[in-house]
Amino acid sequence: MKTPDVLDKEARDILSSLPENLTAKDRAAIPQQEMPQQDPKERIHNMSEVALGYTENEAVVEASRCLQCKNKPCVSGCPVGIDIPRFIKSVAEKDYSGAMDVIQESSLLPAICGRVCPQENQCQKFCTVGRMHKDVDKAVAIGRLERFVADHEKDNVKLPEIAPATGKRVAVVGSGPASMACAADVRRMGHSVTVFEALHKMGGVLSYGIPEFRLPKHLVEKELSKLEAMGIEFQRNVLIGRTRTVKELMEEDGYDAVFIGTGAGLPKFMNIPGENLISVFSANEYLTRSNLMKAYDTEHSLTPYFHSQRVAVFGGGNVAMDAARTALRLGAETVDIVYRRTRSEMPARKEEVEHAIEEGCNLRTLSQPVEILGDENGIVKGVVIRRCELGEPDASGRRSPVEIPGSDYTVDYDTVIVAIGNASNPLIKKTTPEIETNKRGNFIVDEATNETSMKGVFAGGDIVLGAATVILAMGQGRKAARAINAYLEEKE
Ligand code: FAD
Ligand code: SF4
Ligand code: SF4
Repeated sequence: MKTPDVLDKEARDILSSLPENLTAKDRAAIPQQEMPQQDPKERIHNMSEVALGYTENEAVVEASRCLQCKNKPCVSGCPVGIDIPRFIKSVAEKDYSGAMDVIQESSLLPAICGRVCPQENQCQKFCTVGRMHKDVDKAVAIGRLERFVADHEKDNVKLPEIAPATGKRVAVVGSGPASMACAADVRRMGHSVTVFEALHKMGGVLSYGIPEFRLPKHLVEKELSKLEAMGIEFQRNVLIGRTRTVKELMEEDGYDAVFIGTGAGLPKFMNIPGENLISVFSANEYLTRSNLMKAYDTEHSLTPYFHSQRVAVFGGGNVAMDAARTALRLGAETVDIVYRRTRSEMPARKEEVEHAIEEGCNLRTLSQPVEILGDENGIVKGVVIRRCELGEPDASGRRSPVEIPGSDYTVDYDTVIVAIGNASNPLIKKTTPEIETNKRGNFIVDEATNETSMKGVFAGGDIVLGAATVILAMGQGRKAARAINAYLEEKE
């Protein structure tokens, strides 16, 4: 791994050797700029961000790789529709404030998306430079450039223009990325917006799920503060479905429309013996203790965490990687990621798996936990694991795991973290039977408008898609905002 100084020097050397009039071939020949990172040996002892962000030299070199394609294929891969070539052109010209203006036309959360978007499956997947190299990892690093602009301009934020007041009121339930994107757009259209959040902190998974070392919480607060400054009202500690129902918001409290973005916060379990033992956690609880309640800050936080030595994390997605890497930072000696397929089938981002391995997490693949064993005090003491092999592809297109009979073995652990997925929270579904849901409990919406089966009630993000991504949730929030505006105009 190259140190940040070496990477910056390399970028400076490239800049000084670039010809004045770059051809497309020259641009595509510039190597993709690596992201500077904290050394793995150091970073497992702190919660600070792993990726350090581009320097100005690195950002300008990376921006110079963009071909400014007329048909903008990358934009079709961005669910919020950022004008990518236009903002990158501004970076290449060192006009960072101009770049921020372009991004803010479509997204008020670039510091977040630039960090956590799965760019390799979104905008960068369609990048012409990546296609020329037949390697998506060589595409223009759009997310890193977006992050650079957001960080560079963090103290120079211009709020978007807000249309004259319409007198209409919109309630937004939940404060994750779907709700924030919807609230911002509805507000820009001149409607008044109140966000109701069940927790004491806004941001949804951005605040309680994604760890500090991937997404510093002060950045989430900073980006959300833009929404408050636009006049959006935030009401914390309000659980819709208990404190007020959706019907009451509309019929008694006078909201003209409602957007529901309550996410997928209900952890799934494996239903194997031993899951009720002490020191078995859902990844949600484990991460919430650390991120939202700052359990790692033992000097200041009242929230305790379990002092683990040998941890098994069940699952192979981003949530599993986050839980495993958090356990290491909380002092575990051994962390095994137990996954029933192989590394190539893991749903986690490639970069997250690489980071987990660099930091010392072990991958125990083709392994299916079948029982959690407890000691005489009811605390986890081990896991019985069954070996698997890969069979035929399933509906997801990935080869399915087939258990090998008689291959069980036991490994000693003192903690188990279950990270095999989340389902939607059932509270609003139960208290608002007018909203139709599918068999998984996700809200069914009109594809064009994101309106639910209840008139004037729209929904988006994980509550509709199942556990998905930040940017897909934001895309749904923006789509719903346009439809809410049309609905309110029609109502008028
Ligand atoms: P959420 O972010 O889940 O927000 C929902 C909000 O609604 C919560 O704040 C909740 O408290 C509130 N709420 C729920 N019920 C009620 C109610 N009845 N009344 C009031 N408020 C309520 N995606 C990526 O793109 N990149 C990543 O790297 C990534 N990493 C992840 C890591 C973890 C640990 C997890 C759990 C998810 C990760 N995801 C990632 C997925 C991504 O975070 C989600 O897809 C996204 O946050 C969904 O947004 P949302 O707005 O639909 O809901
Ligand atoms: Fe790409 Fe995500 Fe940024 Fe859109 S928001 S340009 S998908 S990194
Ligand atoms: Fe630039 Fe790639 Fe988008 Fe083309 S596809 S405009 S090269 S980022």
